[in-house]
Amino acid sequence: MITRTKEKEDLILDRHIALSRDGFEALQKVTAFCCAGCGLCVSICPLGSIAFDEIKKRPLLTGECNRCGYCYLACPRSFLPLSKIEKTYFGSNGSEEFKRLGAFCDLFVARAGSKEIYREGTPGGTTTALVHYLMEKGYVEAALLTRGKHPDIRFCMHPEPYIASSPQEVFASAHSKFEISPVLSHLGALSRYKRTLFVGTPCHIMAFRKLQIIYQDEMMRTKMKGLSEIAEKLTASVTYALSINCFLNHTNMDKAYEWLKVQEKDIVRFNENVTKKLAHEALEDGKDWRWFIQNSVVTRDGQVKDYDVLQLGVLLLYSGCLVCNNMIVSKHADASIGFFGAETGVKEFGWNTVSIMDPALKEIVDKMVAEKKLEQKPVLRNYGRVLRKTLEVLMRGLMPAKDFMGVSHYLQTGEWYYPGTMKKIKGPRRGTYILGLELFYLAQTFRKKMFYDGTLKALGKAGAYRTTVY
Ligand SMILES: Cc1cc2nc3c(=O)[nH]c(=O)nc-3n(C[C@H](O)[C@H](O)[C@H](O)COP(=O)(O)OP(=O)(O)OC[C@H]3O[C@@H](n4cnc5c(N)ncnc54)[C@H](O)[C@@H]3O)c2cc1C
Ligand code: SF4
Ligand code: SF4
Ligand code: SF4
Repeated sequence: MITRTKEKEDLILDRHIALSRDGFEALQKVTAFCCAGCGLCVSICPLGSIAFDEIKKRPLLTGECNRCGYCYLACPRSFLPLSKIEKTYFGSNGSEEFKRLGAFCDLFVARAGSKEIYREGTPGGTTTALVHYLMEKGYVEAALLTRGKHPDIRFCMHPEPYIASSPQEVFASAHSKFEISPVLSHLGALSRYKRTLFVGTPCHIMAFRKLQIIYQDEMMRTKMKGLSEIAEKLTASVTYALSINCFLNHTNMDKAYEWLKVQEKDIVRFNENVTKKLAHEALEDGKDWRWFIQNSVVTRDGQVKDYDVLQLGVLLLYSGCLVCNNMIVSKHADASIGFFGAETGVKEFGWNTVSIMDPALKEIVDKMVAEKKLEQKPVLRNYGRVLRKTLEVLMRGLMPAKDFMGVSHYLQTGEWYYPGTMKKIKGPRRGTYILGLELFYLAQTFRKKMFYDGTLKALGKAGAYRTTVY
């Protein structure tokens, strides 16, 4: 993290305030590559002139623009006061676990206690169980979540942000939708409640934390008075900002269905989105955790289609994910829930990793466990540590910030190129495993090396727009 003096911060802010005077045109410089698709700008615009394009997953100007610059200034990808966010909201320090996962007050593996929620969750339903509990017990009145647009399709991956105002309405949000969901475009609608929560990916949490900083930090409040008033209103009701973990996300999944020649309604598995029936059949068949991270689609009639994940990436790549500085987990959420690191044995399926940053939330989760609303067990630590560390040394040595995804080519041509199958990269010998947190860490290193570092380098080389992080 770069630390800067107050004067430098002052200069950074003044520079961005000057840029913001171009109004929506300033925001378009961000959206050319760096947009995270969080939807916040939709809630910020005082004229209600911004909509969200569901196919391109980018904001669109649909009305008048008075060049107030609020959309640009609030956007987490214009400038990001990360050091202030880290100081105020958990951040990380100390041990490798803290640096990797954030300053958690609890870290464990869990799954929903309710059979109904477990059946629908991806994979363990912990998020749905937690949100349901927080509503049922009156900790919050409403929750901003993401459901599938087509309720009759088991794994509908067309995301639709919505507000649940009763515990029953929470069920619709279960399972992962592998498309950008502009969750924060609905932040305004939460303001009519007193105590709320939202569930997003780590970029939503980052955008929300920046908004909180905009009204909490004296310098920002003074320099951006109008925006800080909007920020205060939009964030006032949110008691919990919850994250699901995220490696990368996609534009429109329909392109993937076309490529794979499958219909969404027939899908019983799309990677970790898998019906529990099929998952248990796979375990009985002798398959292990590697089956659950394999890139494949299974349809109702039993057809299995393995696919090349990089080819899918090229079809659906969302450029803003390549500049995402959250390494899978959200260190700044009140809790971050994923599936990497959740296996405590080679024959494990259906659990989540959970890191809790907010001590008040930990107390509530402890009650859930006592009431059997959540099953809990310790995370697996140090399983395959030497192998993980060796692979990391090799990765660092062999791949110094390579433009793996071909960002330079994209900037010149507007097209992504196919970097070649990863199947050529041989995994460790059968019987040699990296499991639990070690696998999580390896995925983080891989993500940083293969997607993030090289992308920043390529953007810098081309003189293209890059987020100011300070
Ligand atoms: C695109 C994507 C990539 C992911 N990559 C990883 C990864 O690499 N490693 C990892 O450990 N975990 C990853 N996850 C998280 C994982 O798939 C589960 O969402 C997470 O483990 C929570 O599981 P659960 O059983 O508790 O969730 P459930 O109980 O099934 O609840 C799902 C929750 O996710 C929210 N949600 C679903 N789709 C979206 C979306 N597109 N945007 C915002 N919110 C959404 C819903 O509102 C709901 O609250 C990813 C999720 C997504 C959507
Ligand atoms: S927030 Fe302001 S600058 Fe942005 S589109 Fe709306 S009116 Fe224009
Ligand atoms: S990152 Fe979020 S706030 Fe910024 S342009 Fe994209 S959708 Fe809007
Ligand atoms: S990779 Fe980052 S930017 Fe992309 S959806 Fe996930 S958290 Fe958001």
